[in-house]
Amino acid sequence: MAFLDRLPTKGRLNRMGLVNDLHCTLCGVGFETRNHLFFECPIATALWSAIFDINGIRFRHTSWETLYNWAIATWKRKSLLTSLMKISSNALIYTIWKERNKRIFQGQASTIDVMFKAIKETVGFHLRGRPINRFDTVNINLCNQWGII
Ligand SMILES: [Zn+2]
Repeated sequence: MAFLDRLPTKGRLNRMGLVNDLHCTLCGVGFETRNHLFFECPIATALWSAIFDINGIRFRHTSWETLYNWAIATWKRKSLLTSLMKISSNALIYTIWKERNKRIFQGQASTIDVMFKAIKETVGFHLRGRPINRFDTVNINLCNQWGII
């Protein structure tokens, strides 16, 4: 996810001398850096927890680095769970960035439930029609949880 380094977060814009207000657009408390926005912010944490819960994973990340290292070690197998984690992680980052821009540019805010629903829809859309081994109990459970038909 190298593109994360290039996102114009307030932290990055501030280093370029472009913004003064560094507060996170989502929680208003932390400073908007890449790590805060996507990993430490309470809204990001709630969404990550929801994704891990729905995937039946006990892992709890504490930073971008721990998640990244864990993902590299874990996501080698070509299982449905691996696909789900990759797609849902990307969907989470996209959804948070979209929400942040919506709040800045349109002055509208979505709830965590609405954001998670958007993530679920993205995941369902990406996996619809993919060949999935439906005899595998883990897969059956994942398909039910994510609403993959
Ligand atoms: Zn925040």
